[in-house]
Amino acid sequence: IKRAFLFDCPIDLVTYEKVLSCTDSWILNNDPKTRLIFAQNPEKVMTSLENKELNKALNQADILIPDGNGVVWALKKQGYKLEGRVTGIDLMHKLLKQAQQLSVGVYILGGKEHVVKKAVDKIKEDYPNITISGYHNGYFHDTEKIISDINSSKASILFTALGSPKQELFLTEHVNKLSVNVSMGIGGSLDVISG
Ligand code: UDP
Repeated sequence: IKRAFLFDCPIDLVTYEKVLSCTDSWILNNDPKTRLIFAQNPEKVMTSLENKELNKALNQADILIPDGNGVVWALKKQGYKLEGRVTGIDLMHKLLKQAQQLSVGVYILGGKEHVVKKAVDKIKEDYPNITISGYHNGYFHDTEKIISDINSSKASILFTALGSPKQELFLTEHVNKLSVNVSMGIGGSLDVISG
């Protein structure tokens, strides 16, 4: 994966196919390492200029998708070659499809209680053969309990929707305690899915 930088902020020159082939092998090999995927947009690039913790978290991520139009435009302007956007919401749907095809479980973390519940129902409706191993709203205090719930669910994919930069900092801090193969930060996507 080729990593580009905009104002010191990393972004990967990837396509959906590339990301999905990485997640496919991480899941099938059941690597002990938990991989992290975050979406890059102009707002996050700007925030990471001032927020060193966020910049560090982004630099430690395994894949940073070029989500926002603004970052794709800026990368192309700087002479980087990339096919186009890889949006968080579309990648999430493709990962849900992959989870269903590989028969592995998914855990959804984040959003308000009624939002995450509705999003889970909608996902089950759209992906009838998917395994939702567990879910929890994003307003918790006992982090260790949440991590142990995620791990005992045996999910392979964790979607984390705590907003940014909360989800990036949360996942980077606890990545070594997680046993999922991959976690993706999905920001406010549960609000979109739940309608
Ligand atoms: N969220 C959460 N826990 C928190 C803060 C936010 O689960 O402590 C959820 C919130 O319910 C929403 C999503 O994260 O579904 C995005 O939140 P917000 O709009 O604040 O972040 P942004 O979209 O600006 O990244």
